[in-house]
Amino acid sequence: MRPIPVVKPKDLAETLRYLEEGGKPIAGGTDILVAIRKGLEKPPFLVYIGELSELRVLEEKEEGIEVGAALTHLELLSHRGTERLPILRQALRTIGSPAIRATGTIGGNVVTASPAGDSLVALYLLEAQVRLVSQAGERMLPIHEFITGPRKTALKSGEIVRSIFLPYPEGEPLSFFRKVGRRRALVIAVASLGALVWSKNGRVEKARLALGSVAPTILRPREVEEALVGRPVSPEAWEDLVPVLSAATNPISDLRASAEYRRKVAGRLLLALAQTLQTMA
Ligand SMILES: Cc1cc2nc3c(=O)[nH]c(=O)nc-3n(C[C@H](O)[C@H](O)[C@H](O)COP(=O)(O)OP(=O)(O)OC[C@H]3O[C@@H](n4cnc5c(N)ncnc54)[C@H](O)[C@@H]3O)c2cc1C
Repeated sequence: MRPIPVVKPKDLAETLRYLEEGGKPIAGGTDILVAIRKGLEKPPFLVYIGELSELRVLEEKEEGIEVGAALTHLELLSHRGTERLPILRQALRTIGSPAIRATGTIGGNVVTASPAGDSLVALYLLEAQVRLVSQAGERMLPIHEFITGPRKTALKSGEIVRSIFLPYPEGEPLSFFRKVGRRRALVIAVASLGALVWSKNGRVEKARLALGSVAPTILRPREVEEALVGRPVSPEAWEDLVPVLSAATNPISDLRASAEYRRKVAGRLLLALAQTLQTMA
């Protein structure tokens, strides 16, 4: 394999010039180096953005936090600014291993756009906005518009993800994240479910659900979210929604699990959510 040149720009402006010339960003390298080794990516040269100060800021705003794309999962987990977003922390904690969390970045997870991307489950629940920048200017896209398919995004050539805005949810929803894999550590999800649930007097007032690894992108099963409103928080009261949730999924069979198994696990995760909420309430 021919070595690929790597450049290290001093700032964002220089980065954008390199991207215009056809360079491909590399942050932690935990996805792109694997893709290059497998021959799936053949960039003419790599542009190292992992230490760009413009991409390494976490800004606390009134309505939420704006996290720089080059912040690592570990940095986000230990930053005071993510305290008000427990769902983000729950999801990030399950990524890879300590070494992967210390190297991989949130921007890399978003641009890789894997249906198994763990931070993405939290980003869909929080209805995050992706801030993109190129020499032509800036634009913001909601996460579900930025990700257009499995490993596909709306990123244009010459563009970079600068940051991701995560709004604080209203009130105090309970948050839940559960990832099912083939083993306990260093595992890519066979299926995962994240949820934000607002409840009052033992009944659901509002629910947001997001599933990983059971569809081409992270899935928000809107009909189940709506059907939960007004129901008691108990597995018995949610039982009839298990087949509805399974039917909303559109999984693939791969090395890790069959489509049928993934569908089944997704349904069971809904009951695990009800059980957990019942004990929390
Ligand atoms: C052993 C192992 C275990 C893993 N386990 C998990 C897991 O449990 N859960 C999970 O979700 N992921 C997992 N991953 C995948 C990976 O670690 C994450 O997706 C990580 O967040 C990628 O970030 P990175 O900085 O390393 O990305 P890179 O590899 O540097 O980049 C990935 C892609 O994003 C692009 N890119 C990066 N930053 C930007 C930016 N700011 N703007 C535009 N494009 C950009 C690159 O050009 C490339 O196409 C695992 C990977 C490995 C190797």
